[in-house]
Amino acid sequence: MPKTSKKEKPPLRILFIAAEADPLIKVGGLGDVAGSLPRALRALTPDETGGRSLDIRLVIPFHHDFLHKIENPQPVASFVVQGAQKPIPAQAFLHDLAGVPTYLISGSPIPPDAPVYSKDIREDGHKYFFFCQAVIELARSLNWQPDIIHANDWHTACVVYALSLKRQEDDFYAHCKSVLTIHNLPFMGAGSEGIMDQYGLPPSNDERLPAWARRLPLPLGLLHADQIVAVSPTYAQEIMTPEHGCDLQDFLQLRKDNIRGILNGLDTQEWRPSTDAALPARYDAAQLTQRLENKRALLSEFSLKPDIELPLLIFIGRMDQQKGVDLALGGLEQLANLPWQAIFLGSGDPKLEDACRLLEANMPDRVRAAIRFDASLSRRMYAGGDILLMPSRYEPCGLAQMIAMRYGCVPLGRATGGLKDTIHEEPELRKSTGFLFNEPSEYALAYALHRAITIYQERKTWQHIQKNGMAQDFSWQRSALAYAHIYLQLNDNKQ
Ligand code: ADP
Repeated sequence: MPKTSKKEKPPLRILFIAAEADPLIKVGGLGDVAGSLPRALRALTPDETGGRSLDIRLVIPFHHDFLHKIENPQPVASFVVQGAQKPIPAQAFLHDLAGVPTYLISGSPIPPDAPVYSKDIREDGHKYFFFCQAVIELARSLNWQPDIIHANDWHTACVVYALSLKRQEDDFYAHCKSVLTIHNLPFMGAGSEGIMDQYGLPPSNDERLPAWARRLPLPLGLLHADQIVAVSPTYAQEIMTPEHGCDLQDFLQLRKDNIRGILNGLDTQEWRPSTDAALPARYDAAQLTQRLENKRALLSEFSLKPDIELPLLIFIGRMDQQKGVDLALGGLEQLANLPWQAIFLGSGDPKLEDACRLLEANMPDRVRAAIRFDASLSRRMYAGGDILLMPSRYEPCGLAQMIAMRYGCVPLGRATGGLKDTIHEEPELRKSTGFLFNEPSEYALAYALHRAITIYQERKTWQHIQKNGMAQDFSWQRSALAYAHIYLQLNDNKQ
């Protein structure tokens, strides 16, 4: 725990709550965030945080998937959570997650053999509503009074709701403030209706929320959070529009003064082409020609034409409507008369997987479809590809475009959410970091790709674009500073 001298202000206490945290458990991007952001916040110096150090601690469910990663887990607290029929015993175990004190909560609604996210939303409802109430009981049982509770997505949104109920009756929580980060608005916990009541979380009758949303965890968290954060400034605006607001846009408009966007960061140690052990040739911005070795190796691995002059286009991502893989496939068909080769890596919706295989079958001399999850291959692709296609229909933040830029692979993305905030296409192209298009259509993508392939031939300009991307600061430290500012502001405003 950070030390306090007489002159120093006491540390600000923050409980950071998530469903998953890397490297204990990672299913999606949230695992990266919960694994990195608390660590980056703890690393900030008091100079950067107005003289306060941040005592941030993490709480996640004790998913038994990672039991083998923890030596001899010791319980630090035992307490009960009020369930529908009877009190449910809960235990918390303390683990050091790369320097961040992390509480792992167990209890019968978190079954030992369950995945982090079940296919059965009702099972997840029981698991996460129990978990949220357990978080509230945990702090009290440790007598560790948080100044801020920071929740993420629907699974933990109910901590915010539970806190709002507690604040009215319990001095321990009277001055605690809440932050709720939205990583993906469409996932609101639908299907868990009715289960929250069983954990002492009644439906709301607040008319600012549409009636259907008053029994759902994410909307209830959004109703009560002192600060709402979306994972990019553009997504923060988009969720207040009919196109991306998932029918909560009118409600979110009412909360607009409490909504901010903060870009996620990237683990810059993990994603570093000069030290990446998965690459045939390591390089940095000063040795871009080394990069060509990676391209040669990739072309050979996929039996593509060994012609490094041909731009190599890559797609890396979930095969999902959201990611616009169909737009990429259609756009490429339209540009059949231009010189390019392409590799698709991803898995997900079988229809989209088949569409990738079909394009490979129709263009066997220039398209490859690798339908799988392959972390090592993804690294070789970022390091050997020339252009990353990222035509997402919506993209709250997006990591792939940031990784691509770190690796000197130029992103071409749709101007939405985090893509719009991280990819810059300037009128003076040598100042750009990538290419953008607006309409979610294959024509718009093809138009932008035509532009990119043309510029690719102008080697000097292309290298400027690559280097601009490689020089971007996507570190977690930048995001951590923005979150720290929010915590301090909320704490200053408390009555
Ligand atoms: P999302 O979290 O919406 O899936 P992001 O762009 O934020 O999208 O993050 C996706 C991450 O997963 C990136 O690090 C990307 O490299 C990786 N990834 C996605 N699909 C694959 C795959 N098939 N094989 C390897 N890595 C993948």
